[in-house]
Amino acid sequence: MRKYKIILVSTICAVIIGGTSLAGELTDHQKLSRVIYQEAVETPTYADSKGTPKLVAKFIKRLKAAGFVDDDITVVDTAEGHQSLIVRYQGSDSNQKGIAFLGHMDVVTAYKKDWVLDPFTLTEKDGYFMGRGTADNKLGVVGILSTFIKLKSEGYVPTRDMVIMFTDDEETGMVSTKQLAQMALEKLNIEFAFNGDAGGGRISTTGKPLIYSIQAAEKTYYTVTLTVTNSGGHSSRPRKDNAIYQLAKALDKVESHSFKPELNEITELFMKKKSKSEKPEMAAAIMAFLKDQTDEKSIAILSDNTKFNALIRTTCVATMLNAGHAENALPQSAEATINCRIMPGTDPAIVHKQLEDLVGAGVTVAIKSFTGFAPASPMRNDVVAAVVYANALHYEGISITANMSAGGTDGKEFRALGIPVYGVGGYLGIVGDSSNAHGLNEKIRVKGFYKSLDHWERLMKYATGGVK
Ligand SMILES: [Zn+2]
Repeated sequence: MRKYKIILVSTICAVIIGGTSLAGELTDHQKLSRVIYQEAVETPTYADSKGTPKLVAKFIKRLKAAGFVDDDITVVDTAEGHQSLIVRYQGSDSNQKGIAFLGHMDVVTAYKKDWVLDPFTLTEKDGYFMGRGTADNKLGVVGILSTFIKLKSEGYVPTRDMVIMFTDDEETGMVSTKQLAQMALEKLNIEFAFNGDAGGGRISTTGKPLIYSIQAAEKTYYTVTLTVTNSGGHSSRPRKDNAIYQLAKALDKVESHSFKPELNEITELFMKKKSKSEKPEMAAAIMAFLKDQTDEKSIAILSDNTKFNALIRTTCVATMLNAGHAENALPQSAEATINCRIMPGTDPAIVHKQLEDLVGAGVTVAIKSFTGFAPASPMRNDVVAAVVYANALHYEGISITANMSAGGTDGKEFRALGIPVYGVGGYLGIVGDSSNAHGLNEKIRVKGFYKSLDHWERLMKYATGGVK
């Protein structure tokens, strides 16, 4: 009986083009997903909103209506007032380890007065969904959740466990992330995770599929302060030991320092693919660097390009400055903030020591913020095959690559505990058309949203024995 139901559904799917049926009508699944998406965007979940428990309650109601029971659902509270959600979709073979599906329910704060439209109302306009979190990351969260709901309602049984792990402070402290990563390791028997908050692709302005990238590594976010202090004094009698001048000299040294270039499996894959679309000089530099990471000529060319410079090495840059206390006083203190993005697998303590050696005595280097560090996740053939299959419906033949993010996502905390994570978001944006995540008037294409639902369904089925 169930089997027939699935066959029937796939027949219906066959006449769906570009996220809507031939008649332009949304399918029931698309309609429900849009309702859940609206609920998610319209429940504010920024850091001080205390909104996530409300969203979790709404999600649980939807899950139960689809057939998930209390035993499948775990709500995790953190001491900081955050709430995470775990949903286990039980597989038929308990000998196989499960796959986690990550997403974060929290969003970056948005002020109504700054936005063109209310950030916490989902608006569909000119082919876009607009509102805070439409891209980051209610798109990923709803894509995963509504696909769980669809598959469960249809009676689909995966061969192995699929486990939703939705966090609540990815944009701030990642306390809930660390907690869930620990649970994944100790209690949930997870082999690897897919992350809906990273990865994704690009299409051209005419809709041609260009590139899809799996996020498999992240740089480590590490911030320090450089501080110079002394007794200060009257500005009418300047002395040699001026905190501002001393700090300025230290900053000069940070500016002119370049960290040693390096290569890992993920940046190698990405650069190989990239060399095919770059201009001849850059393409030649990439190929030379891939052969020899000490080749000075290619390093110079790559370092001149902000994107490649960030890809081949750890970077540390001054981002904030604070000094002095009165215009007629010698400064008693001068402090600069230096934000580093450290290559995966490198212990930040090493970079910290390098900075100390660089700025020398008299300048104190202190940790300001640090979110843990992790190695790159090794590429797996089964993951790549699942992504190829997921893309084949709407973006057939798209070129697949892997990338290392310069920013940070939940994935890093799982990788840090030895659980590989692959960012495999289902959304492909148009080149040059940014969703402006974290910024004003965040938006995504409506068609892209509906296509992302098919992406998740195909990915989940491929990864759990649902594709024969
Ligand atoms: Zn995000």
